[in-house]
Amino acid sequence: MQKKLSIFWFRRDLRLFDNAGLYHALKSGNEVLPVFIFDRNILDKLEDKDDARLVFIHENLSAIQSKLQEKGSDLRAWYGDVLGVWQDIINQFGDTLAEVHCNLDYEPQANSRDEAVKNLLNQNGIAFYSHKDQVIFEKSEILSNAGTPYSVFTPYSRKWKEQLTPYQLEAYPNEKYEDNFIKTNLEPIPSLASMGFGNSKIDFPSMDFKSEIIKKYKENRDFPALIGTTRLSVHLRFGTISIRALATLAKDLNEGYLNELIWRDFYFQILHHFPHVGHGKAFRKEYDTIAWRNNEQEFKAWCEGKTGYPIVDAGMRELNATGFMHNRVRMIVASFLTKHLLIDWRWGEAYFAKKLLDFDLSANNGGWQWASGSGCDAAPYFRVFNPTLQTQKFDPDLKYIKKWIPELNSFNYPKPIVVHEIARKLAVETYQKALKKEA
Ligand code: FAD
Repeated sequence: MQKKLSIFWFRRDLRLFDNAGLYHALKSGNEVLPVFIFDRNILDKLEDKDDARLVFIHENLSAIQSKLQEKGSDLRAWYGDVLGVWQDIINQFGDTLAEVHCNLDYEPQANSRDEAVKNLLNQNGIAFYSHKDQVIFEKSEILSNAGTPYSVFTPYSRKWKEQLTPYQLEAYPNEKYEDNFIKTNLEPIPSLASMGFGNSKIDFPSMDFKSEIIKKYKENRDFPALIGTTRLSVHLRFGTISIRALATLAKDLNEGYLNELIWRDFYFQILHHFPHVGHGKAFRKEYDTIAWRNNEQEFKAWCEGKTGYPIVDAGMRELNATGFMHNRVRMIVASFLTKHLLIDWRWGEAYFAKKLLDFDLSANNGGWQWASGSGCDAAPYFRVFNPTLQTQKFDPDLKYIKKWIPELNSFNYPKPIVVHEIARKLAVETYQKALKKEA
């Protein structure tokens, strides 16, 4: 009798080691075929035909494929509409296909896609399993004593740490069952060009764990001119590193750093419990009544790093050139857009979504709603970052600014598009009006 087949479906978990879904597929005892689908529905929406994220995915899939080939196996990749591809897979493998495993995704669109795939597979008598992999705690695993989800970070993180046991950090020993990878011949991954895309000039941050940075995280994390943060976000985004391994290291080396990883879990569970935030709505509904100015010229100046506020412009230029922006600067540019310019945070959120290598719906939405004041554990509405004071504190020698704005002291550098004090006052008044707060 022909051996049964389990498929593991790669999505944002591009690694062969310590991978929950892949482990369960391999452990099923069936032969395991790893697959990836370049989803047309996502790719068609990408405006930049040299989108670095696609290149990142492609490079990492090729690396996975090479490793599988060393084991006499292979990775199969398709380009198309996800449901159509699954129908083809079902047709191709017929009755031998018994199970499909993947790792859980928490974004609303991914949830409906997975639901549709599950239904299709189940109708054909094929089991569909999704596993927790990209977070330490998910969904309702961390609840208050009253059984409700947390919307404030500090008590959430306290509970998170109380509930943490070695079990959650244990690595999945995928290598134990690697003999179960299907023995098959090479089939090339669709090229970028065949999908209408090209290469990108952006360099990707390395995936070394950078223990030295983590040890000194508290002292250095807020200074954008230093390499004081790990830049592992793109790797966490696409799962080229394991959150369990990183959290184990963080736990041993630096609690401040561990807290950042907890923020990540926190925003994933916010998206799960309060799905309206993933559908363009403010976490606090009253913030949806703010009378944004939404001036398109000013938005363009912000996107291009030409507001005349050097710390804002440096950040936006860093983003445009590298797909990365330092967290402190993300907070400053987001506050500037939503407060100084009174531009709807959703415009900024969408621009970041287009440009960030590490773009993640939950963290990006959380960051934007935090900055605009509309979020769960957000900055109060009257907190308007003063770009000059932020610069004095976090880039006192202007090292970061000068790196990104070489023409800083020349006539070519634009004059400020708004006056800080006037903009601050208008922002507070506009927010007050919407929130009906007393001055
Ligand atoms: P490190 O300081 O080394 O932190 C380690 C890891 O912790 C990060 O890689 C990230 O996975 C996680 N992390 C750190 N801070 C946060 C946070 N506030 N929320 C959630 N996770 C966090 N992060 C994203 O991963 N994707 C986004 O799309 C994103 N958009 C943001 C938008 C705004 C407006 C703001 C203010 C923040 C945003 N962040 C986002 C959070 C944070 O800025 C980045 O995670 C961080 O800058 C990544 O750099 P790093 O890897 O060097 O971080």
